[in-house]
Amino acid sequence: MNGLFDAMVGVDQVLEKLGTVIDPDLKQDIVSMGMIKDLELNDNNLKFTLELTTPACPFNVEIEDDVRKVIGELTELKSFDMNVTAKVMEGRSLDEDTGMATVKNIIGVASGKGGVGKSTVSLNLAIALSQSGAKVGLLDADIYGPSIPLMLGMKDGYMEVEENKLQPAESNGLKVVSFGFFAEQSHQAAIYRGPIISGILKQFLVDTNWSDLDYLIVDLPPGTGDIPLTLAQTIPITGILVVTTPQDVASNVAVKAIGMFEKLNVPIIGVVENMSHFVCPGGDEKHYIFGQGGGKKISEQYKMPFLGEIPLNSGIMSGSDSGKPIMMTDPDSPSAIAFRASAKNIAAQCSILAAKLQQEMESEGNTDDSTKESSTESTPETQTSN
Ligand code: ADP
Repeated sequence: MNGLFDAMVGVDQVLEKLGTVIDPDLKQDIVSMGMIKDLELNDNNLKFTLELTTPACPFNVEIEDDVRKVIGELTELKSFDMNVTAKVMEGRSLDEDTGMATVKNIIGVASGKGGVGKSTVSLNLAIALSQSGAKVGLLDADIYGPSIPLMLGMKDGYMEVEENKLQPAESNGLKVVSFGFFAEQSHQAAIYRGPIISGILKQFLVDTNWSDLDYLIVDLPPGTGDIPLTLAQTIPITGILVVTTPQDVASNVAVKAIGMFEKLNVPIIGVVENMSHFVCPGGDEKHYIFGQGGGKKISEQYKMPFLGEIPLNSGIMSGSDSGKPIMMTDPDSPSAIAFRASAKNIAAQCSILAAKLQQEMESEGNTDDSTKESSTESTPETQTSN
């Protein structure tokens, strides 16, 4: 109970308490990260907004709980009201490029060879991020074998052109662009060479009306050809996600792709191992039929985060073939749970890269306030867990 002569709590006291809450990913306290907004303290009634760095962060609930705990220690408070939102951080420098200033993060998804499930992983991760509340686009840049239209049941999909800009198609909450939507051209793709291919990708990136996106997932062709190179050199991107399989690890093909992006100074967000194990229907035991720990080994060797392992599941394959992604048809399956966990880890890594970038820009005295201001408009709201 608050007594008549209870001391008045000051804003400094509140901030001091909140300053003890550390974001486990960013390893910084939430006050200096600017996550506390609109703080109001009147007559020991406290109100503020906690603005998390992404709706998909794996630690969101933990941070929220920690905040409630430290504020609970201010026993003189009469009331406490917290609004929880998330604003995805900018993981790429937007002022260097003019065409894509509304896309906060660009994530290239790469693999050493074809058939490892790179497109499947790109699509389901994009849906998982979108389901968390983020605005997500998917660019199928696998010009030689665009499979995203089939996986989304959009074989007859097409894109409109308005005011010289491509309008992405919409599916399952995603903005989607694919070379596969240009049916005639896609048959000829195999004969296209370097400069033409690079030109097409640049157009898909820059001449598309993406509007505000928190994450753009770019499904790259396998290997180290013109398209991955063009993506790395055309615009600033947040980083590359590498998809491997246990067999892929054994044959060392993923390593080549990693090496190329490292040489180009593109950050590697981490590794996801696909088809990593099998879970028997109705059970939860993981059977590592191709051997365990391959993806982890690569991530340790190259000092990059291991972001998840996706089980082998016939539902993934039949869903891909029938245009119904498993994230939509079976969201409680072990595969969907694994995609969700990986998506959270990826979002967390993007926040870490964004925080690093912000620090670099600040140390160069290069922060652009107008960009920051405009980005608040695309704030996805998370659920408060009261
Ligand atoms: P990539 O883009 O690397 O060439 P795809 O995403 O097209 O690979 O996947 C190749 C095939 O493997 C597809 O038929 C797809 O449905 C299937 N597949 C991908 N991941 C899984 C998985 N985890 N379990 C079962 N089948 C999968």
